[in-house]
Amino acid sequence: MDSLERFAAEKLARIRAAGLYRALPVTARLAGADAVRDGVRVVSFSCNDYLNLSQHPAVKAAAQAAIDAYGVGAGASRLVTGNHPLLVELEARLARLKGAESAVVFGSGYLANIGIIPSLAGRGGLILIDELAHNCLFMGAKLSGADTLVFRHNDLAHLGELLGQHRARHPVALILTDGVFSMDGDLAPVHDMAALAAVHDAWLMTDDAHGLGVVGEGRGSSFAGGVKAAVPLQMGTLSKAIGGYGGYLCASHTVVDYVRNRARSFIFTTGLPPASAAAAIAALDVIEADPGLRAAPIAKARLFTRALGLPEPESPIVPVIVGGAAETLAASAALLDQGFLVTGIRPPSVPEGTARLRVTFTAQHRDEDVRALADAIIALGLVQPTARAETA
Ligand SMILES: *Cc1c(COP(=O)(O)O)cnc(C)c1O
Repeated sequence: MDSLERFAAEKLARIRAAGLYRALPVTARLAGADAVRDGVRVVSFSCNDYLNLSQHPAVKAAAQAAIDAYGVGAGASRLVTGNHPLLVELEARLARLKGAESAVVFGSGYLANIGIIPSLAGRGGLILIDELAHNCLFMGAKLSGADTLVFRHNDLAHLGELLGQHRARHPVALILTDGVFSMDGDLAPVHDMAALAAVHDAWLMTDDAHGLGVVGEGRGSSFAGGVKAAVPLQMGTLSKAIGGYGGYLCASHTVVDYVRNRARSFIFTTGLPPASAAAAIAALDVIEADPGLRAAPIAKARLFTRALGLPEPESPIVPVIVGGAAETLAASAALLDQGFLVTGIRPPSVPEGTARLRVTFTAQHRDEDVRALADAIIALGLVQPTARAETA
């Protein structure tokens, strides 16, 4: 065996031994929450298409019309080939929805974060990041070369302490958090965090990948509770509730203009395909017009948490913590046997010892499927009977 093959094989063996091997089972998504996994029809509780807009007739038609009019690809970076009119429209729509002056669309949420963060904080700068923030916020911080401090999850006292100790020694400070946490489904305290950031002249960026479309009347975590939080940097994705693909930042005209001129993952990559832009615009139309749709995923999540005696959900994401990686995989396999696709999430996606079933709900989940999943989870002994009794 040559050294490359040996290197990969040894690394893989170690990943397997730790129960952390990841496979890619062939899975076709159907309408609603249904899917076909390895030829078997299942109900998926492992999808971020919260409003099922990837399958919405108007969204599909908009994408098809854009392909007919403009073809399938963008051709080059937006700075090289010229800015597509659909991207101009999409950015205006996003800015309006988020109550910001301006927006810039990226190829994906991941690309957005690894471009935005290094353009705002560099060597000598300070980044403070929630310990449970998404991987791409950490990768953006790493790429930036800024001094990075991790604060305890949603712990404003800890964040304030770190700012008090370190802020003065750095020319700029950037606070990074998920708006809705991707693996726990809880919200960041964005209103209080924005106030704390202002006291220390730190810039707050929320990653609202799981907020747009489902939280704060569809406008995201900055709008949770009804009053807009003063978050100067609202980042998110078009790949979850919007149903398609892409990422964005909403901010002031000046900040967006600067990011367009500086973010490497905007400048040196091909623009979003026209069909993705058109689909996102059509999805925003649906979201803005349909309050019932926006509320549906959390209502399904609530049906589930009430059946299990778990805390009320703040988003369509409900973690059922199992603990070990192997037990989590076994639970996921047992549920799959019963027709429920619930992917197990293991380290390094979540902290050691907190492997879990991450259950996500969409507007079109059938209530009887939600109840049946709750029953199956109880039958597997994954939720403690005491927790159920307390709320019963
Ligand atoms: C999914 C996700 C991303 C990445 O967005 P993509 O558009 O899928 O690249 C970023 N941040 C969070 C919190 C996410 O959950």
